[in-house]
Amino acid sequence: MQKNDMAVIEITDIGVGGEGIGKIDGYTLFVKDAVIGDRAEVKVIKAKKNYGYARLMRVLEPSPYRVEPRCRFARQCGGCQIQEMSYGRQLAFKEQKVRNSLERIGGFSPELLDRITEPAVGMEEPFGYRNKAQFPFGTDKEGHPVTGFYAGRTHDIIANTDCALGVQVNQEILEIILEFMEKHHIASYDERTGTGLIRHVLIRYGFATGEIMVCFVINGTSIPNAGELIKSLTAVPGMTAITVSVNTRRTNVIMGESFEVLWGQGYITDYIGKIRYQISPLSFYQVNPVQTEKLYSLALEYADLKGGETVWDLYCGIGTISLFLAQKAGQVYGVEIVPQAIEDARRNARLNGIENAEFFVGKAEEVLPAYYERYEEEHGGEQARADVIVVDPPRKGCDEALLDTIVKMQPEKVVYVSCDCATLARDLKILCGNGYTLKRVRPVDQFPMTVHVETVALLTRDVV
Ligand code: SAH
Repeated sequence: MQKNDMAVIEITDIGVGGEGIGKIDGYTLFVKDAVIGDRAEVKVIKAKKNYGYARLMRVLEPSPYRVEPRCRFARQCGGCQIQEMSYGRQLAFKEQKVRNSLERIGGFSPELLDRITEPAVGMEEPFGYRNKAQFPFGTDKEGHPVTGFYAGRTHDIIANTDCALGVQVNQEILEIILEFMEKHHIASYDERTGTGLIRHVLIRYGFATGEIMVCFVINGTSIPNAGELIKSLTAVPGMTAITVSVNTRRTNVIMGESFEVLWGQGYITDYIGKIRYQISPLSFYQVNPVQTEKLYSLALEYADLKGGETVWDLYCGIGTISLFLAQKAGQVYGVEIVPQAIEDARRNARLNGIENAEFFVGKAEEVLPAYYERYEEEHGGEQARADVIVVDPPRKGCDEALLDTIVKMQPEKVVYVSCDCATLARDLKILCGNGYTLKRVRPVDQFPMTVHVETVALLTRDVV
């Protein structure tokens, strides 16, 4: 196969990025936007020795799993990868993705995985699920401000204020902002030159409360004519917090290091289950509240608390899982690296009258080992123990120093909540090589239409 060759291909598999995979005489082609089961005409865009990449030119016979996308930018936009795949097939793909990682990277046997993997927890309505969106701002060819999403693997903005994964009110808010920028000649930030004011707008929406937060990320110290902007935004029902975060660094990091309140309060309130949470702009909060409740309930079910346990919640964010667990545990300790998130966590504990949760700021891989050593010194060599340890790390997974300390603390159970099944598999392999057995695994679909998958896994300590 060579570049620009045309071919007709049957799509027989799905890659980790959601792309279709087919073979022509043993030569593998990866085809973005092709759905498993399609017969399609494709054009080779890059040819290596044994495999290549091709563009989908025409679907000759659509797969039974092919559906009409909800959004007209589904193919260009980097946000969704598999919107043209039926939702049921998406869930099957995600189960397979988790299983493949656990087999290939984790070294777990297919027989074990057959026994312990539970079907993915899906959504009834897999659109409009995001409570948070960060919209990049740019300038179109005519010099008008635009906002939308980045095209796949680039920083080119596809102008679209009507994302099918977000809430409707985003559009209203973004249109107000664009109109205001146009009227007052306020420029969007330009990453190439480092000039222009508006970098991103973060919108958060409390599904349970209807409260809205808008946070402007700006390359400057203030927004000119902010009073007028605030007046228009506060006309949107539910507006609760208008904030600004200054970020003048030449970086891909979206948010600045702090934020200021322009109007209203510095947070919105939302509920997951019975627990009430206040969320400020710089804190992590799960983006899909409907699925988050299912995710946390599953974590709680796996932890199987009886009432007196000591539980650690590592990478705790604003204390969401911690407070969920505290309802059933003796004592919960949460650890999180972002100081503002820990402030939120402490406030959230008070807000819910929860007194058995304590929070520490710092890296989990430093705080827990330090706690362990200090405990040993202060208790005449006695070792710190925990009954259950929950971890919910970012994509890069857990640091080995942390896994070492977890093993030393000998919790009965480890509940691993993961947003990246490759690092999950790597870490589970380490724990299972050190006295733990993998008991249950269940994907939870926090991100329909994308290839991302969240997983909850339960490990128990081997009896020696
Ligand atoms: N459990 C929370 C947050 C999970 S996201 C929830 O469900 O809402 C992962 C969190 O880990 C983020 O809040 C991030 O700020 C934090 N984090 C990242 N690296 C960390 C580290 N080395 N130690 C502790 N927390 C970390």
